[in-house]
Amino acid sequence: MLTYTYTSKGKFELVEKPKPKLQHERDAIVKVTLASICSSDLHIKHGSVPRAVKGITVGHEMVGVVEEVGSAVTSVNPGDRVTVNVETFCGECFFCKRGYVNNCTDQNGGWALGCRIDGGQAEYVRVPFADQGLNKIPDTVTDRQALLVGDVLATGYWAAKISEITEEDTVLIIGAGPTGICTLLCVLLKAPKRIIVCEKDENRIQFVNEHYPDVLTVTPEECLDLVRENSDHGGADVVLEVAGADSTFRLAWECARPNAIVTVVALYDKAQTLPLPDMYGKNLTFKTGGVDCCDCEETLQFIAEGKINTEPLITHTYPLSQIDEAYELFEGKRDGVIKVAVECSK
Ligand SMILES: [Zn+2]
Ligand SMILES: [Zn+2]
Repeated sequence: MLTYTYTSKGKFELVEKPKPKLQHERDAIVKVTLASICSSDLHIKHGSVPRAVKGITVGHEMVGVVEEVGSAVTSVNPGDRVTVNVETFCGECFFCKRGYVNNCTDQNGGWALGCRIDGGQAEYVRVPFADQGLNKIPDTVTDRQALLVGDVLATGYWAAKISEITEEDTVLIIGAGPTGICTLLCVLLKAPKRIIVCEKDENRIQFVNEHYPDVLTVTPEECLDLVRENSDHGGADVVLEVAGADSTFRLAWECARPNAIVTVVALYDKAQTLPLPDMYGKNLTFKTGGVDCCDCEETLQFIAEGKINTEPLITHTYPLSQIDEAYELFEGKRDGVIKVAVECSK
């Protein structure tokens, strides 16, 4: 079968590999219908994910049809359409039981698919702990509507969930890339009083203005002033930092009012400074983490009910055979790209 493989630093290539087989009674084999490209794939390509294993098939955001299940799998059957979860987790350890699945202590737990084991930019993928890693797609939801459930939408949902948003709040979201927009979609479910999105890219600002006209948009340079003008208590009640640029961590806490919650979703290239003397008395609460994506069933339900729609984010579609072009477009941020879908199997 055809796979997109991490062959050496800076290089992914289309490579033929044997179709995966069940290796464990809790595994499932999924025929991938659609996969997408994530910025984490680019991090692997450029060598900034040290635990990524050379030779693995990349891709960790996908949907497909269950082909085969191990004898201990109970929640899905061959023929089921499913979303695949970016995190592999056992469901049984201390952290999994508390919903902190990103911290699963199983040796195979964490971000394994498309990083340490073969992922989904391929015709088929083996999913370990299939009862945890797969969610059935409701009949009324299409593959395209469900494509982002297992990774970027899961991240947005987790971020909105932990941010303690109320209907009185002014919420600032920094960054309107795919994860930023998914965060926005999940913040909208909480119906806060105001939402402000800060983004430097003009195309992305335009995308937000077009699709979510009630949301205020602003550039990083004007962000602090606009947030102060549009907050009831001198700053945002909740800030979600999804950008991860050099200056955005500082911007996040500067825009927060005293006693605000600042949720850091972004993954930074470099260490960030927490200048405690500057923020003394501001009494901020910082929340951080990797995505704990164990709410995919809920997000699929929101999609079925029409309360979350990530389909407009999928701006481009390519067949697996042309995935090189898809990467080139995504990496170059050309042509207003937000997310690219890759058709893997028919
Ligand atoms: Zn990702
Ligand atoms: Zn676990």
